[in-house]
Amino acid sequence: MRIFDPHIHMTSRTTDDYAAMYDAGVRALVEPSFWLGQPRTSPESFYDYFDSLLGWEPFRAAQYGIAHHCTLALNPKEANDPRLLPVLDELPRYLLKDHVVAVGEIGYDSMTPAEDQALAAQLELAADHGLPAMVHTPHRDKAAGLARTLDVVRESRLAPGLVILDHLNETTVAAAKDSGCWAAFSIYPDTKMDEDRMVRILREYGTERMLVNSAADWGRSDPLKTRKTADAMLAAGFTDADVDKVLWQNPVEFYGQSGRLELEPEKPEAGGATYEGNSILRGGS
Ligand SMILES: [Zn+2]
Repeated sequence: MRIFDPHIHMTSRTTDDYAAMYDAGVRALVEPSFWLGQPRTSPESFYDYFDSLLGWEPFRAAQYGIAHHCTLALNPKEANDPRLLPVLDELPRYLLKDHVVAVGEIGYDSMTPAEDQALAAQLELAADHGLPAMVHTPHRDKAAGLARTLDVVRESRLAPGLVILDHLNETTVAAAKDSGCWAAFSIYPDTKMDEDRMVRILREYGTERMLVNSAADWGRSDPLKTRKTADAMLAAGFTDADVDKVLWQNPVEFYGQSGRLELEPEKPEAGGATYEGNSILRGGS
């Protein structure tokens, strides 16, 4: 089984997680930029983070046979801090880089006017750069949040086929599917959405333009939820081809629209590779 996790925050995870993901079948992933769990205090903090998503983290992933890509953006929560808005002016030079496969995660957190502006501006940036957009839908007041998100997407120049709506559930899936956007679901250990509910949604809505991710980060989460969902699909009577479509082909097709997917990770050098002089090994260099 081959798995593409289209939303996972590996910066927050360990090398054990990389090894376990590889063993479970994960061969490629997308890491969206987001917040740190506490507020940043200056735009410069974003640039070091973006650089690490373009450098150190793909290097780490490659040591475990996993191809790493990222999406970059000013995240919804931090769009509310005026100190951080200069990030929007710096994003264009980052969006030119290899391995940046979308603008994201963007969208709503608390549905403020500042979030409205950041979402619309970043959808425009995606259109300017010929990139897809990865849109986070709010965890509270989901139906209203999705409706407002779709209004802003429709007003943008970005075609619905270039937009992923993430963190969907039973209350938002129908509207998301009707919009023509791609539909993504984050599977969590004990909140929001689990693998059995996901299987029921796939049974009802089919496998077209449907993506499943672990959204694992620094909070309670599980980087193997993609595999566990695939196993739940098989146990429920879905075929290997259905699993491959949802867990591999759909994310490849969506993010392939960037023209920047590289599904073969760079081979680690024998004897311990380094990135800017640093290795993931201990006791060596
Ligand atoms: Zn996320």
